[in-house]
Amino acid sequence: MMKRSFLTFAIAISILLIDVSINRPADLAAQNIHWRYGGTENPTQWGRLSKDFELCELGKEQSPINISGAVSSSPADINFDYKPTPLEVINNGHTIEVNYVKGSKATIEGHEYALLQFHFHTPSEHYINGQASPMELHLVHRDQTGHIAVVAIMLNEGISNPIISQIWEHLPALGETNKVEDLLVNVADLLPSKRSYFSYSGSLTTPPCSEGVSWNIFAEPVTISNEQIEVFEQVFQVDARPVQSLNNRTIQLHS
Ligand SMILES: [Zn+2]
Repeated sequence: MMKRSFLTFAIAISILLIDVSINRPADLAAQNIHWRYGGTENPTQWGRLSKDFELCELGKEQSPINISGAVSSSPADINFDYKPTPLEVINNGHTIEVNYVKGSKATIEGHEYALLQFHFHTPSEHYINGQASPMELHLVHRDQTGHIAVVAIMLNEGISNPIISQIWEHLPALGETNKVEDLLVNVADLLPSKRSYFSYSGSLTTPPCSEGVSWNIFAEPVTISNEQIEVFEQVFQVDARPVQSLNNRTIQLHS
């Protein structure tokens, strides 16, 4: 009797496991695969770490890129309706990310996107005319159909940045989230004053390297202090994917 019920239990568990593995969404599976910026799981290996990551190796419209040879295009048409958000900082092991509550949006060439989060890379992932910056800020947006648009801002060394200070004062430990409900930050205060930007079609710069991402990179950098750069580098010495081939893509300059 004991034996039979154990067998039934074992079969039930096996079916459950098979079921779980079949129904597991690809992005959830992808989350469990380790990838890094160095060592044996470095960016040149990402495409081989999982079938879900194959675009990292096989994709033809990958990001980041060196921005060079941009063609003058339509005038800058980018508008921000960013509101203050209670500070929520995450150290996800790959970057420092600040989550945004619903209600903030960007309108890029007439197309509306909701702001989801922003995060940092060091050194910059994009190059402008062969030149990297010490850091790069990515503001990640999504429209109603799931299309991703990233607004990128180069962070150069100069005057210290008050919002960065507020975020850095609440850096969480690896894998942790720091919620500071009574501290409101507005990423609008991190935008450069000039609205010129480069645009091109690319990908996520982290696995699974999904393509169809609309990239919009401000031509004008903003500054952060050397000390602020060093604080980030103490958490992540390098968290930037190397530049990828442009292939047949056109880079547009909207000024
Ligand atoms: Zn990024």
